[in-house]
Amino acid sequence: MTGAVEAVIFDWGGTLTPWHTVDLREQWAHYTQVYDAGRADELAGLLLAAEEEAWRRARDHQRSGTLDDLLRSVGVEPSGERHEQALAAYHRFWEPHTYIDPDVPPLLAALRDRGVKVGVLSNTLWTREHHEEVFRRDGVLDLIDGAVYTCEIEWTKPHPEAFRAAMTALAVTDPARVVFVGDRPYDDVHGAKETGMRAVLVPHSAIPENQKGHVEGDPDAVVQRLADVLPVVDRWLGETVQA
Ligand SMILES: [Mg+2]
Repeated sequence: MTGAVEAVIFDWGGTLTPWHTVDLREQWAHYTQVYDAGRADELAGLLLAAEEEAWRRARDHQRSGTLDDLLRSVGVEPSGERHEQALAAYHRFWEPHTYIDPDVPPLLAALRDRGVKVGVLSNTLWTREHHEEVFRRDGVLDLIDGAVYTCEIEWTKPHPEAFRAAMTALAVTDPARVVFVGDRPYDDVHGAKETGMRAVLVPHSAIPENQKGHVEGDPDAVVQRLADVLPVVDRWLGETVQA
C-alpha cells in the first residue's frame, strides 16, 4: 500500500503568482523603445500580433514557442548588447507581476515534508533561466523538484505530452498519483484530467477571451487560495491505493 499522491505540479502565471492583467502591447513597447526607438511603435505592434499568433497556436494546436523565435519573426535579432538591454527593460516592466503568492513557500515546504514531490509546468515563452531567477528571488527555487517550461519542449498545455514531460522531470510514472494545480479550466484542468491526473482549480484569473479553449475540464477540487491546497492533498494522501 502506498500513498495516493506522489507529486503536486503547479502552473505558474495566475497560480503560483497571482493573476495580473498586463497590457501586452505596452510590454513590447518597453522592449522596442530600447531596441529601436525610431521604429518602437511599429515593432511593438508587430510583436503583439506575433505573440497573439503564438498563443493561438498554443490554444488550437498545443504547439509551443520561444521568445527568440517571436523576436526573429519580426526581424529582431535576439542577441547582442542592444537586445540584452531591451530584454532587461521588458523584464523590468514585468517584474511587479512576477512575485510569488505568499501562501506558496509554506505550502511547498509542507508538501515536501509529507514526501510529496513539487513540480512546475508553465506555458511560457520565457527561458528557464529567467523563471529560475524569479523563483530564486522569492526563495522557492530550492523547494521545486522539477520544472518544465514549454519553450523547452514541442508542446503546450493542455497537450498530454506537456504533462508527461513534467512527470518525467519529477521521475513519477503514474498520473493517477499526481495532482495538478492551475488557474485555467482548459489548459490546466482539462489537460491534467485528460492525462489522468487529479486537478485543482484556483479560479481567480481574468483569462483573455482569445486564450480560452473550446472545453473546460471538471476539477476534482476548487480552492479559493493556495493554502487550501494542503488540506485537499492531505485528504487524498489519506486514501491508499493498491501498490
Ligand atoms: Mg496560469
